[in-house]
Amino acid sequence: MPIIITRDDPRYVSLQKGHNARFPETELDAAKRIFLCETSADAAVALQQIVSSGLRPTIRSGGHCYEDFVANNPGGAILDLSLLSGVNDSRSAPPYRIGPGVQLWNGYLELYKRYGVTLPGGTCGTVAAGGHISGGGYGLLSRLHGLSSDWLTAVEILTINGSGKVIPRRVDARHEADLFRACRGAGGGGLGVITSYEFDKLPQPPVEVVEAYISFPWEGMTEEKFVSLLKTFGEYWETRGQDPETWGMFAVLVVAHQAGGGHMGMSIQFCNPNGTCRDLTVLNDYLDRFLQCGSPASPADGTGHAGLAARKDAGDPLCSGVHTVRRRNWLDATGGNNSSGSSTRAKYKSAYMKRGFTQAEARCIYKHMTRTIPNVDLRGSVIEIDSYGGAINRKELLETTSVAQRASVLKLQFMTFWGDPEDDAGRLQWIRDLYKDLYSGPDSDPDHKETPWWSSRHEGCYINYPDRDMLSYTYWPQLYYGQGELYPFLQTVKRKYDPNNIFHHAMSIRP
Ligand SMILES: Cc1cc2nc3c(=O)[nH]c(=O)nc-3n(C[C@H](O)[C@H](O)[C@H](O)COP(=O)(O)OP(=O)(O)OC[C@H]3O[C@@H](n4cnc5c(N)ncnc54)[C@H](O)[C@@H]3O)c2cc1C
Repeated sequence: MPIIITRDDPRYVSLQKGHNARFPETELDAAKRIFLCETSADAAVALQQIVSSGLRPTIRSGGHCYEDFVANNPGGAILDLSLLSGVNDSRSAPPYRIGPGVQLWNGYLELYKRYGVTLPGGTCGTVAAGGHISGGGYGLLSRLHGLSSDWLTAVEILTINGSGKVIPRRVDARHEADLFRACRGAGGGGLGVITSYEFDKLPQPPVEVVEAYISFPWEGMTEEKFVSLLKTFGEYWETRGQDPETWGMFAVLVVAHQAGGGHMGMSIQFCNPNGTCRDLTVLNDYLDRFLQCGSPASPADGTGHAGLAARKDAGDPLCSGVHTVRRRNWLDATGGNNSSGSSTRAKYKSAYMKRGFTQAEARCIYKHMTRTIPNVDLRGSVIEIDSYGGAINRKELLETTSVAQRASVLKLQFMTFWGDPEDDAGRLQWIRDLYKDLYSGPDSDPDHKETPWWSSRHEGCYINYPDRDMLSYTYWPQLYYGQGELYPFLQTVKRKYDPNNIFHHAMSIRP
């Protein structure tokens, strides 16, 4: 039976919230009950109880939702699946079964130790499968192996029929293939409660990887150098990065606002496509592109990176050198980021890019990353620019998944984190101004200003990085799902499997 948490339970205070401390916005916005489920049978009982008593259910697995979709549920009920966290119920895999409450780090560990396979999912260890996979789910190995949802072969899901009855379903490419496709990337919370993900096959992780980190200090950074950094980064992924030889390399450029002082940084994970690190030519060539600059690698650690030391005295520094280049076994490397952003207030935005940065875009980013606003502390404001593409961009996946973005080479995440509710207005102003300005420049679509509308340069936004601000554009669904048949298809699925629109939130598929 589900564990039911009500307002008088001491656990209520922490369990009514997710990781983004902005939600619920007020006490009145909070759910009145939380149903903790340990099995799919529990989830079915809880869901029936919630719906039969006329409450609105919102669904939670890892609680990392960027927006208010789960925690803002005035007087409703949160169906919490975090305890449904098993990886396979038996040793006889495949198929591999993952519960929605499995946190990514635990999932990687179990899949690796038991079966020697992995999921090409995200870098935050405490994000859970429930929201992550249903929204696509990408990470360090996605250029090599695609999105997490690309590997899905079946899903167990609870839907509600027109009479308010819970219907358990197991859907795959042959049974209710329309609903299955919708579970492969259209985002969670809007169709039903996923209680299990199933994969017939999963990729093997690399035997080892090489990690490198380059820092770019703000001290001495000029607009010209900044533009050169962004253009060097973008051009690589637009050109050389399309070659399958490079797909084992993933890089994230973290452009932190100047207010924090310090530096910006780039983390790189590399392996050859066969999962070894025997040939480092691709990595060395990549690193060399950023080294019109300073100090040598420390420690070089057997990677044979001759180029770093050789370039030691070359020209005007852009970066302070490659700070670490090290070989690691894959498991140690993938456990690196466990930051959850817990207990902070946060606002996020996203964009896909099919090309590198233009001069105008890079200049605009520099302007906002060095901007000051009176009485607003902009420390903790960051643009994370991920390399993308590779195996994700296999066009045949457009037909069988709900991820429309299959031509991008970069994925951008705009973020700002703060603690005090009094700073909400300033923080929101900064991130909104940046985004609107960036997508109103000479390279943006004149009919869709202020957004990364689909064009030769952009491919909209990522549903796992949802942004309620986009609701002010009538075409917001197309930003997330493209201009083709995908969104109308998802609406058909919605009407068929959730006829009373029981599962809804601000950005769920409209019936
Ligand atoms: C620190 C951090 C790092 C991140 N890093 C990455 C990354 O590297 N790559 C990446 O792709 N994404 C990343 N994300 C985004 C992440 O994938 C999404 O926020 C994801 O939706 C979170 O899933 P969750 O289950 O943890 O969150 P939840 O808040 O529980 O759920 C998120 C959404 O999915 C729905 N949902 C949850 N469980 C279910 C279910 N069982 N059935 C149906 N719907 C469900 C919810 O209703 C909600 O709408 C990151 C997020 C954070 C906070």
